Amino acid sequence: MSSALETLRRDFGGDIIEPGAAEYESASRALLASGSPAFVLRPESVGDVQAGVRFAAGSGLALSVRGGGHAFAGFGTNDDGVVIDLGRLAQVEIIDKDRHLVRIGGGATWGQVAAALAPHGLAISSGDTRSVGVGGLTLTGGIGWKVRKYGLALDNVVAVEVVTADGQVVRAAGEENPELFWALRGGGGNFGIVTAFEFAAHPTTDVFFGKISFPAAEAAGVLQGWAEYVRTAPVELTSIVYFANPFAGGPNAPVEIHLAFDGDDPELAAQAIDPIRRLGTVIGDDVALKPYADVLVDGATPPPGIRLVTRSAFADKESVSDVLRILAEVGASERSPFISVRSVGGAVSRVPDDATAYAYRQAELMLVTTTAGPEPVIQAAAPALEAIWGRLAPHVIGAYANFQASATEADVAAIYPAQTYERLAAVKRQYDPGNLFAGNHNVRPQEA
Ligand SMILES: Cc1cc2nc3c(=O)[nH]c(=O)nc-3n(C[C@H](O)[C@H](O)[C@H](O)COP(=O)(O)OP(=O)(O)OC[C@H]3O[C@@H](n4cnc5c(N)ncnc54)[C@H](O)[C@@H]3O)c2cc1C
Repeated sequence: MSSALETLRRDFGGDIIEPGAAEYESASRALLASGSPAFVLRPESVGDVQAGVRFAAGSGLALSVRGGGHAFAGFGTNDDGVVIDLGRLAQVEIIDKDRHLVRIGGGATWGQVAAALAPHGLAISSGDTRSVGVGGLTLTGGIGWKVRKYGLALDNVVAVEVVTADGQVVRAAGEENPELFWALRGGGGNFGIVTAFEFAAHPTTDVFFGKISFPAAEAAGVLQGWAEYVRTAPVELTSIVYFANPFAGGPNAPVEIHLAFDGDDPELAAQAIDPIRRLGTVIGDDVALKPYADVLVDGATPPPGIRLVTRSAFADKESVSDVLRILAEVGASERSPFISVRSVGGAVSRVPDDATAYAYRQAELMLVTTTAGPEPVIQAAAPALEAIWGRLAPHVIGAYANFQASATEADVAAIYPAQTYERLAAVKRQYDPGNLFAGNHNVRPQEA
């Protein structure tokens, strides 16, 4: 350990933050998790990342990799281990204007990307939140406001530069280390630290964005009508339904359809959005034309002691109706979690199933329940939450890693069906046989 530390101090050009340092308190925390790591490393360069990885491997300490630090499962910190915080590797550079190729540092946030690309009329399909990291979101999916037109964030990745467990820098792209490239698009942080992503960005205009609200009492009909409509709606329209929001009345909270229409033509936008307005009694409608970079919001930091428990699954076409019926009933009860349902399909389902390690391309919807509160509230809500998921179980499939707050073996099995898992494990054996990168929805290198 002491020689590994000496080597680190010699080779590492960024900050090494240890307990007692002024910055330690804030440096040790991720958005949704506190920790007490032995070292927080803030690399300034790829060479620093290599030194950090070699140190973690040589020290035998647990390693957490932090991109934007937003993982619901709190992957961005640990106790007594090493955290590599990539926040300073946040450059956004257009490397090929004609092909809209953009190189993005592995620690950038989507807000930094949107702000850097906006002056060039470009954007990348990402998520809904500025402060979320490019790394975490992209490596397991990326369902954002342009998902139905441009696919998942990971569908727009054309190459990655990654530091693997042995400290080597490897490039992966379609023709270069193709199995690693396949695994990195869905398999999360299991294979190394991505120091740079190359994305094919797309031209963007202002977009029509906002929410249309309906009374809680109309939830069942609005949900069914919405799901029916988005199945054939123009792919420019992406939407998320939120209801049973405990901060807006729980069972009496309005049903809100948040939507983005990717384009600035008011007629086309109205054609796409008006069928949503006809789903029920509209009690609020603030859809307006906005720059794409302005539609992203900042992820609020929960007050100390407040936990957020998210759980997710997908619904295929044949189960959509049952899933939404159950969710509408659940949302009407006092014990309901906050529920959101995202429309997927579109460009996501046109990519061949085995092109990347993201497993649920044919799903029409992705649903998430969120429970928030201090630990006793979370514990008290757990039986009702289990019962809700028990009712959903026969109708839903899988889980979306990015909205899964737990990381049990059952979670990993839900995120990666057996065939995907086995292929990922083979890549893991090649690039991380000692499972250095284990602070994630972990794919183990061992043979099943
Ligand atoms: C407020 C909020 C809004 C969200 N909105 C959306 C949304 O609209 N759509 C969506 O799809 N998801 C969304 N998410 C989920 C989000 O995608 C995940 O929480 C994701 O893990 C966050 O990535 P991060 O880099 O910020 O997290 P981190 O906690 O830093 O990282 C998460 C995981 O990714 C790994 N990782 C991160 N960067 C790298 C890298 N460069 N190289 C290797 N491994 C890396 C880490 O090791 C860790 O396992 C949201 C989350 C929050 C909290």
